[in-house]
Amino acid sequence: MLNGDGEMPAGVSPPFFSQGGTSMIVSWMTTNQCNLNCSHCYQDAGDRRSGELSTEEGMALIGQIARAGARILIFSGGEPLMRPDIFELVEHAAKCGLRPVFGTNGTLLTKETVTRLKEAGAAAMGVSLDSLSEEKHNRFRGHADAFRLTQEGIANCREAGLPFQLHTTVMDWNREEILGLMDYAVSAGASAHYLFFLIPVGRGVFLERTALEVEEYESTLRGIMEKAAGLPIEVKPTCAPQFIRVAEELGVKTRFRRGCLAGLSYCIVSPVGKVRPCAYMTEEAGDVRDRPFDEIWRESGLFETLRSREYGGACGVCAYGDSCGGCRARAGYYHGGDILAEDSYCAYGRGRLAPAAEPSGAKATASVRVDVEGGEGCRKSGRTEC
Ligand code: SF4
Ligand code: SF4
Repeated sequence: MLNGDGEMPAGVSPPFFSQGGTSMIVSWMTTNQCNLNCSHCYQDAGDRRSGELSTEEGMALIGQIARAGARILIFSGGEPLMRPDIFELVEHAAKCGLRPVFGTNGTLLTKETVTRLKEAGAAAMGVSLDSLSEEKHNRFRGHADAFRLTQEGIANCREAGLPFQLHTTVMDWNREEILGLMDYAVSAGASAHYLFFLIPVGRGVFLERTALEVEEYESTLRGIMEKAAGLPIEVKPTCAPQFIRVAEELGVKTRFRRGCLAGLSYCIVSPVGKVRPCAYMTEEAGDVRDRPFDEIWRESGLFETLRSREYGGACGVCAYGDSCGGCRARAGYYHGGDILAEDSYCAYGRGRLAPAAEPSGAKATASVRVDVEGGEGCRKSGRTEC
């Protein structure tokens, strides 16, 4: 996949949504509005939320994000293309020296929109595709024509020379399709394939099947990294920080140096201006209506805590503590809000410290399972782009 220096081999497009975990990336959920009704949506997106940042506020935010040292600005949502001022915002981001990229469902990427985005300075699109089965994708996305429209969007990007990467959410019902989707990403001309793992949220009772899920999760990651080693594009399991350890164990080269980036080189801004370490973490670092983003990024106590990297439990004694870092959202959910606790969803950590690594605090959560038939139980799950 990558040569020994971590550089992309000749002839391979550079990745767009990440710079190896060292440069700062901000994801701005520009709106809660969405034209689809996806089962897994962390935003419970649909309608525009009252109090969303205005165009002027968005422009100011973009300037502050650039001042904070960010290199990449991800326009996400909801569906960011629902914002009527999106072209203006993209243009401003590019002028501020940021690399404007998108997390989009792809259904609104008409020829005209793609051309306008490119002219405005958009660097790349991240387009969601969860299945090669039209019927399954449509059912999961809650729209009878989503698959066709997304395919058209991908084709429009390709024809216009606007780079794109595929985004796939890994769930029970599409797990068997993941390797095939990776091949599809290559054949479709994507520059990269990012695989988003759902993070369980909520504070239910411990589920007996969790242990089994941890093993499944580990073997899914191994399968992905083994396959990635033979592909000419970059593959990144996202919000599965253990992929760094798995890659090292398998001897698979990756230019990524860090698993969880939350608060270290990544954060999100909500539609109403709340700054959080990632989309899954509910803890707030600040509000851009009260304080400029760059100050929040520099001085927030929440970010300082995450940057201390003083992890507990298995993550605290793990040789991969610095490179993987465990999922801080999961640590919090499983350990009563302690975001520096171990990530109990790790086969390696459980093996090292069991039984101490068991999430015996009974703060374990709803399953990560998302049922394509309904999926309501996971409505509050989501994904991020770290
Ligand atoms: S804490 Fe957030 S950014 Fe980090 S791995 Fe978990 S979900 Fe992803
Ligand atoms: S124990 Fe923690 S730091 Fe080590 S691999 Fe597992 S999640 Fe990552």
